[in-house]
Amino acid sequence: MNLYNYINYLEYLNKNLIEFFKNQAPYIFCNKGCARCCKKGIYPFSEIEFRYLMFGYKKLSSDLQYLIKNKILNLYEEKITSEGDNYMYECPFLINNECSLYDYRGIICRTFGLMTYQGDGIPKIPFCAFTGLNYSQVLDFKTQTVSFEKFSRLKGFPEPLAFNIDYKLLTNKEHEEICNISFGEQKSLLDWLILEFELQ
Ligand code: SF4
Repeated sequence: MNLYNYINYLEYLNKNLIEFFKNQAPYIFCNKGCARCCKKGIYPFSEIEFRYLMFGYKKLSSDLQYLIKNKILNLYEEKITSEGDNYMYECPFLINNECSLYDYRGIICRTFGLMTYQGDGIPKIPFCAFTGLNYSQVLDFKTQTVSFEKFSRLKGFPEPLAFNIDYKLLTNKEHEEICNISFGEQKSLLDWLILEFELQ
């Protein structure tokens, strides 16, 4: 598992994402302490992402590790009593509304807040638009996507753009070849953690 090449890939990805966020700045309300994206989700992680996350976890203080381990245990117990495969949960690395592993976070975490292009021509607007945050100025509640009529009434705003940052695309074979990495198997973050901490 080549973590060095993966870190290079993250640098390349981050550079692009910083530009995307800059370009869309008037629509973006993300700020420190807003952690809505980390409060309910499945969080897909590939093996290399998970290994890098654990690399960061091992650097945390033992108190913080203990706290996080307890959260994972609670989530595991909740998951086994919940029905269905799509158990949604608050990420156990979220502490006081901040990511305790920010530099080591996964690829999906880095894309939170932007509009995603999924290839069907319909931009996927972040869910926080429905609560008055990102892209809410151009949200069409009915179609759940961008209203270009609302955009035309805004003065000095950039065009609301969706980017090619769908998780599946960012972790596809092409990126593996270009960056000389292997993402490996993909699972929900919690499923990786259950394995890592030998909870089953
Ligand atoms: S790893 Fe960090 S950024 Fe990603 S979901 Fe968890 S708390 Fe949020």
